[in-house]
Amino acid sequence: MEKIVALCKRRGFIFQSSEIYGGLNGAWDYGPLGVELKRNLKDYWWKCMTQTRDDIVGFDGSILMNRAVWKASGHEATFSDPMVDCKTCKARFRADQLDSSVCGQKPSKSPATCGGELTEPRTFNLMFQTYVGPVQDESAITYLRPETAQAMFVQFKNVLEVSRKKLPFGIAQIGKAFRNEINPRNFTFRSREFEQMEVEFFVKPGTGHEWLDKWLEERLAWYEAIGIPRAKIHVLTVPDADRAFYSKGTYDLEYEFPFGIQELEGIAYRTDYDLSQHQKASGKPLEYFDEETKTKYIPHVVEPSAGVDRTVLAVLCEAYAEETVKDEESGKEEPRVVLRFAPRLAPVKAGIFPLLKNKAELVAKSREVQKTLQPLMKVAYDEAGSIGKRYRRIDEEGTPFGITIDFETLEGVKEASTSAVGANIAAGQKETVTLRHRDSMKQERIAIADLPAYLLAKIA
Ligand code: ATP
Repeated sequence: MEKIVALCKRRGFIFQSSEIYGGLNGAWDYGPLGVELKRNLKDYWWKCMTQTRDDIVGFDGSILMNRAVWKASGHEATFSDPMVDCKTCKARFRADQLDSSVCGQKPSKSPATCGGELTEPRTFNLMFQTYVGPVQDESAITYLRPETAQAMFVQFKNVLEVSRKKLPFGIAQIGKAFRNEINPRNFTFRSREFEQMEVEFFVKPGTGHEWLDKWLEERLAWYEAIGIPRAKIHVLTVPDADRAFYSKGTYDLEYEFPFGIQELEGIAYRTDYDLSQHQKASGKPLEYFDEETKTKYIPHVVEPSAGVDRTVLAVLCEAYAEETVKDEESGKEEPRVVLRFAPRLAPVKAGIFPLLKNKAELVAKSREVQKTLQPLMKVAYDEAGSIGKRYRRIDEEGTPFGITIDFETLEGVKEASTSAVGANIAAGQKETVTLRHRDSMKQERIAIADLPAYLLAKIA
């Protein structure tokens, strides 16, 4: 983990927030490479949810909402109590209700009297409170949202009407959430400010469990598509006692982080709890009229809720590798650090290298290749240092392709070959480049004209 944290800083993936002032616990900044990685991850999720299926629509809710939302959802009550844990029976109790609580020990007693060892009360006030407007009094209180979900519930009716969807259908959102975690730790894993990617998927009552299982498969396939193998994801069926009281079934998808097996995403069957609560509290109907059965009901909800930052961290951990390889120039054995990102997530897709920086024709041709590719994908031009060093640099940044413009590009290749796209390259053919693959370090030639289509297919 230490090596990954150091690489993240050295290469500009992730920095500590407010670093020059000693940092701020639980807050992180994404540098130039990190922001590209994170953006690619979110874009791919968004594409999978809202573009390649037509039963989910996108949404972007505000972070600040009417306090009534948090009262109705139960967050105000359940996020702000002082709690104590019993070290003996592992139960958790409201510190102010110890006398009236019943502990798990048999015969049942109240927690203070059963002999179990209690922790000091801790305020589990996970919501960040703030004031809306100039007057800081009780009536101005609201919170930074601790999850993105609630805005999708309270706008359910509006979204349903404008999108003319029928059940089952979903609303997808990516956005910041804030939790005043008691103990932020493990790099970005548990932060106080983080991003979530959530879908609220509305289904007919009675079909919730079926959809819960469909979503489990869907999400496992998604993690594979971003380079996290199925074998590294553990599916935890959350036991009854650990689930939220309104949930009728929850799967936690956990990843084998270097610091342990920890949650990436929760997929919960939330029944009709959220919509019912908001209907009750707001007095506004949030029912759905089912044209097939001519009945009205409150839809049930299955919610796959993933953390952006945790997934970025898992992707970084999965991609990180140290190897001993033969240097491509000297042939000597050397250590290399490589980030084997799935090409669709890689912050930079290709490095573009003139073989020599003091040969104007090589530089000009390289700039031309760069100009051709720039509108299509993120590429990086680099002329500093030996070609071997430049390859090593992009290995550490996880760039899947290196494109080298050399004398054969200008003068024609010495030997005929089969190109990266399977075309014949004849001896003497100009306008070809060396394409170098990050993972295999294999090099082959490709016509410049074939580069855009080849690379686009690889990074899709
Ligand atoms: P945990 O048990 O780890 O605190 P949770 O079960 O409270 O997580 P959810 O409320 O289900 O988390 O939130 C959905 C997702 O949001 C989590 O699976 C995780 O990826 C992400 N998430 C939650 N809290 C944090 C946090 N403090 N930092 C980073 N990501 C978080």
